[in-house]
Amino acid sequence: MTGLTGGKMSSSVPASHISLLDDPEVGSEKVEAATTGGRETAERQRELGGEAEECPVYELYAYLLAADDDEYTKRVYDECVGGERLCGECKGEAADLMHDFLADHQAKREEAEAVLEDLDTDLSSSRR
Ligand code: SF4
Repeated sequence: MTGLTGGKMSSSVPASHISLLDDPEVGSEKVEAATTGGRETAERQRELGGEAEECPVYELYAYLLAADDDEYTKRVYDECVGGERLCGECKGEAADLMHDFLADHQAKREEAEAVLEDLDTDLSSSRR
């Protein structure tokens, strides 16, 4: 995936990626701050449509946030390139989904850790 700041993801640039261990609020804020494939103004966006192929936020929908719902991904794409979808609301929607994804993932992780603890297995790592 493209990094959230454009270019590559880098572990030395926290804003360029979202860790599965990021606080959900932080993950959500990173999506809100992400680079987009949007036009300079809302008027231009309505006129020309956004550039979904150049947009890290669209990639998030396609690879993660829409889960297996291809229709949802297609709707985001069509609304973007058709000029109906503006980046502010699109990022807000993606930020909410990211928040819920991270909260759910981390809750499941805690459950799994409790199970592993019962099994006396340690999977701790310095990697984030
Ligand atoms: S509307 Fe959404 S998908 Fe389209 S360029 Fe903006 S943020 Fe990206």
